[in-house]
Amino acid sequence: MGLSRRELLRTSGLGALALGCNRDDKPSSAAPRFTGQSPERGHLLRSAALLDAPIDAHIRAGVVIVGGGAAGFSAAWRLQKLGLDDFIVLELEPEIGGTARSGVLPRSPHPMGAHYLPAPPRECSELLELLTDLDLLVGYEHDGTPEYRSTAICAAPEERHFHAGTWHPGLYPSDGQTPAQEQQWERFWDQLRELDRVRDHDGELLFRLPVRRSSARLRGLDQLSMAAWLDEHGFDSWRLRWYVDYACRDDYGCTLAQTSAFAGLHHFLARGLEDTREDPLLTWPGGNGELIASLRARVDLGARLKTDHIVYAIDPERGQLRVRDLASERSISIEAQAILWAAPRFLLRHVLPRDRDPLSADALTYAPWLVANLELREPPGGVGATLAWDNVPIIENPAARNLGYVVATHQEGRDRAIEGGAVITYYQPLVADDPAGLAQHRAHLLGSDARGLSEQVLGALEHMHPGIRRHLSALHVHRWGHAMIRPVPGHLFGGALELARAPIGCVRACATDVGGLPLFEEAFYAAIDAADWALDRIGRA
Ligand SMILES: Cc1cc2nc3c(=O)[nH]c(=O)nc-3n(C[C@H](O)[C@H](O)[C@H](O)COP(=O)(O)OP(=O)(O)OC[C@H]3O[C@@H](n4cnc5c(N)ncnc54)[C@H](O)[C@@H]3O)c2cc1C
Repeated sequence: MGLSRRELLRTSGLGALALGCNRDDKPSSAAPRFTGQSPERGHLLRSAALLDAPIDAHIRAGVVIVGGGAAGFSAAWRLQKLGLDDFIVLELEPEIGGTARSGVLPRSPHPMGAHYLPAPPRECSELLELLTDLDLLVGYEHDGTPEYRSTAICAAPEERHFHAGTWHPGLYPSDGQTPAQEQQWERFWDQLRELDRVRDHDGELLFRLPVRRSSARLRGLDQLSMAAWLDEHGFDSWRLRWYVDYACRDDYGCTLAQTSAFAGLHHFLARGLEDTREDPLLTWPGGNGELIASLRARVDLGARLKTDHIVYAIDPERGQLRVRDLASERSISIEAQAILWAAPRFLLRHVLPRDRDPLSADALTYAPWLVANLELREPPGGVGATLAWDNVPIIENPAARNLGYVVATHQEGRDRAIEGGAVITYYQPLVADDPAGLAQHRAHLLGSDARGLSEQVLGALEHMHPGIRRHLSALHVHRWGHAMIRPVPGHLFGGALELARAPIGCVRACATDVGGLPLFEEAFYAAIDAADWALDRIGRA
């Protein structure tokens, strides 16, 4: 049975998207609207109509990379670097980037998701090689310290927090702390320093990037939650616990109690201790989307990059993919020797034959996130510390916590005061203890209109900036239903990730989620390992 464009759009709910109008299309420029990744496109995988569509064309490729995000382009970079050109990249969205996608408002580009990369430690030689290729790492000083392109180094001030009506520098709420709280803060860092000094038998750090390369010595901590680790060490200061909870929410979309202690400590230790590290934080007005755009320019795929292409079925034994080109409404069959699944792992079971995925459907869980970009006629101010790149409210009620906002236009402040308004990106992980709670958040995200979600965002921002609505000229809402893999206790070393990474016939998964932590570094390493595997498989290693 043929599938007309109209039918496909109707069955998938893509009509509004294809017609170029927003779900919440209002004449005012400030009318909130959805932009970015379309949940409806992802849900096409559930549509039987796709499977019924006749095949219009057959093609062959040595390697097919499914997904045009950080992992997909890292795999492409590696294949090309090692001399293979016979590969294609398929991306279901019209734009590349995935969770690192950038958007543009008239005032500035901005992130829709991932927005920074800490400069990697020296052990991450492949990642340093990538950054050199992208002309971000421009050289090394005499003592071996990497030198980064200045425009990518986060401008000062990096962080401030909002507490009791005032902005304070940094992220730890030290103002008004008791001597006992101060002593706990010091003891926490002493504890981290002690862990940082310990070396494995190979002389390496215990906590490493990618996380699966970490030493076996402390892996037992993965069974414990970060909250339990803090309890065990007598850390009960709300200030310290808020600070560590913030780190877990920011990096993993999880609370202290939902984060594995190994993952929580990994955040502080895998790149060398945060309070002594001199390596900078790399960021761009458009967030990590600009990093992906550089990768795209570097690998220069031309017609081998196919956006608007959804992979909806894979035969892992025969190396056959069925793909729908959503722009031309054609269905294509592709024969490949190796398939790199650089898309979220939980989707793979939907394209494989029934019962072919050895990983159980609930083995990995993902945190939903609400993100919004606001274009403001005036940069946000406030009493106390000046506007920083990252601006975080201290909210004592854990149920009401959000991560505040990052300023896309902040990098302009390197050379001059930010003028002519600003674009800020609001971040809120939607945390829950169990899959039912996460599903409820997802239903809320997908069931609300842009105006409803924008009210949630504005309400949170008004707590920090009471008059913010007056300065608003545009508000774009991004819904991430399965934004981040959750490193809950037992997740990192409990066996599920090994199964998630294991090849299934000629398919190997390699997005950040099979690395275990939602980080660019994990996507990169999962992807280059998978690219090496693909080369081996096709006899080009
Ligand atoms: C709100 C948010 C903030 C974040 N902040 C940071 C940060 O600051 N720093 C950081 O390092 N990490 C951050 N992350 C984590 C980020 O997800 C990873 O760093 C990384 O970008 C993940 O890339 P990926 O390629 O593995 O997966 P994805 O980004 O999920 O890319 C997968 C791609 O596959 C495509 N796809 C899916 N199904 C199909 C199909 N059937 N056919 C074809 N294509 C398909 C998708 O459209 C997508 O483009 C953040 C994530 C979110 C959601």
